[in-house]
Amino acid sequence: MSTRLVVDLNRCQNYGQCVYAAPTVFRFHSEETLEYDYEPGDHVRDQVERAAAACPVQAIALDRATEELPR
Ligand code: SF4
Repeated sequence: MSTRLVVDLNRCQNYGQCVYAAPTVFRFHSEETLEYDYEPGDHVRDQVERAAAACPVQAIALDRATEELPR
């Protein structure tokens, strides 16, 4: 099972909290371009959740690929 990760880059203000919380998943490609793994493994799930919680503009959404969306 994997986690599907989506970052709304229009919303992202490059604060970098996600990079700090999950450095193996998020990184800055240049000063202003955030890169991230679209399907990070379960071993970094905790980090990804921390990154999503830490983002000041709630730009990070994550889902289990096999889970139904909550109604
Ligand atoms: S914490 Fe949020 S605003 Fe900051 S770089 Fe990550 S996604 Fe962008």
